[in-house]
Amino acid sequence: MTRPAADVLAELTALREADPPTHGGRVLSYVYDHGRPELDRLAEQAATAFLPVNGLDPTTFRSVAVLERALVARARTLFHGDDDVVGSVTSGGTESCLLAVKTARDVWRAADPARAHSRATLVLPTTAHPAFHKAAAYLDLDVVAVPVDVASGRASAADLLAALDAAGPRAALVVVSAPSYPFGVVDPVAEVAAGAAARGVACHVDACIGGFVLPWWGDVEPWDLAVPGVTSLSADLHKYGYAPKGVSLVLHRGRDRHRAQYFATTAWPGYPVVNPTVLGSRAAGAMAAAWAVGESLGDDGYADLVARTRAATATVRAAVDACPGMRVVGEPTGPLLAVADDGGVDPFHLVDALRRRGWLAQSQPAMTQPDGTTLPRTAHLTLTAVTDDVVDALAADLVRSADEVRGVTPAAVDPSLVERVLTHGLPDELAGVMATLEALPADVVVPALVGVLQAAIDPGPSA
Ligand SMILES: *Cc1c(COP(=O)(O)O)cnc(C)c1O
Repeated sequence: MTRPAADVLAELTALREADPPTHGGRVLSYVYDHGRPELDRLAEQAATAFLPVNGLDPTTFRSVAVLERALVARARTLFHGDDDVVGSVTSGGTESCLLAVKTARDVWRAADPARAHSRATLVLPTTAHPAFHKAAAYLDLDVVAVPVDVASGRASAADLLAALDAAGPRAALVVVSAPSYPFGVVDPVAEVAAGAAARGVACHVDACIGGFVLPWWGDVEPWDLAVPGVTSLSADLHKYGYAPKGVSLVLHRGRDRHRAQYFATTAWPGYPVVNPTVLGSRAAGAMAAAWAVGESLGDDGYADLVARTRAATATVRAAVDACPGMRVVGEPTGPLLAVADDGGVDPFHLVDALRRRGWLAQSQPAMTQPDGTTLPRTAHLTLTAVTDDVVDALAADLVRSADEVRGVTPAAVDPSLVERVLTHGLPDELAGVMATLEALPADVVVPALVGVLQAAIDPGPSA
């Protein structure tokens, strides 16, 4: 019954060959490529060395404690935290954000015994990452989503602070992004953090995507732990930290806050449980790889990768600016661009046209905000250091794709598509599906999306 290893590995290789290329800059979201094969080898070897250990217990596997401490220390310096800043390595940005929310909720509850069983309120801009909505859903907080400026995509400090005032004593946390994923724009961190501090409310900076770019980007207004009033910060090592997937950081100002992140219990007949993060058993491979990549790159290495990323971003931006019918939303700080229709280039058609040329951009549906204003439909591009190697081809194909779809009527909304996608899977051309998702109400779209993804991993009837 056993299969030869070579046979098993060949099957895995074949599966991977059918995936989009994770290297080479063709996939403009999800993957982060530095373009240096020797750094990939280092990450692989570091991860392999740590595959067998369990980060659950850093008193047994002291190697994990050493690496975690080193990563936190490095990040604390990078993000201008003082000796009062501590934190944890997590499995990813979602977990870092979830733990920031859990910490804020528990600190809020501990401040007043009457709050022990009350719901706290989480205030965020509409552009905040859904990880915060997920955290609120898991941890029973109310969310107040505050509209951002439609033209710039940037959160308004005054509006966020007004929302804190409206929430009154229930306000436990306000979130700002550095930068936001949808539009790549850095929110007014200093103003929000100062206002939050004055109200006794915690302030989280979500630098999941920007944390390992902004320190070397240049021309960025203060956004990190140097800003008074910022109580926590998340930064993903598995994005521009160029580590393999499964590693992020959450930092807190104050050991008391960090302690509120922990879960500990002796209420079972087994070993005493002390978990800093959501997971029990913790993989340490990605953590070791993150540490190794950081040691190898050093400050100069990151600076060099960011310089290339910035140059590539400027080239792509210039191509969009020069091309009639489309525009970049706002003034992004960092390597994320959202391209909106500006007289004839439908972003969903643009994404399909780019895909036909071998580039995977991401469709972002329009969103009506709570105040009735609408954030535009866009095509999202995440650019990395390796983009620099292919940037002329990307810029040229963006223009060719725009030329091809300029004036083409946006895809029609077709509710019957929902059923067809559920039974036949997703088509290659996604413009119609995206237009339909955008138009239908959430109570139709959300179960349909879950259905599609559930079907993707359903083994079906047993043979
Ligand atoms: C990626 C991202 C997250 C969540 O990170 P995951 O690693 O995908 O779980 C949170 N916030 C922002 C701004 C992000 O870009």
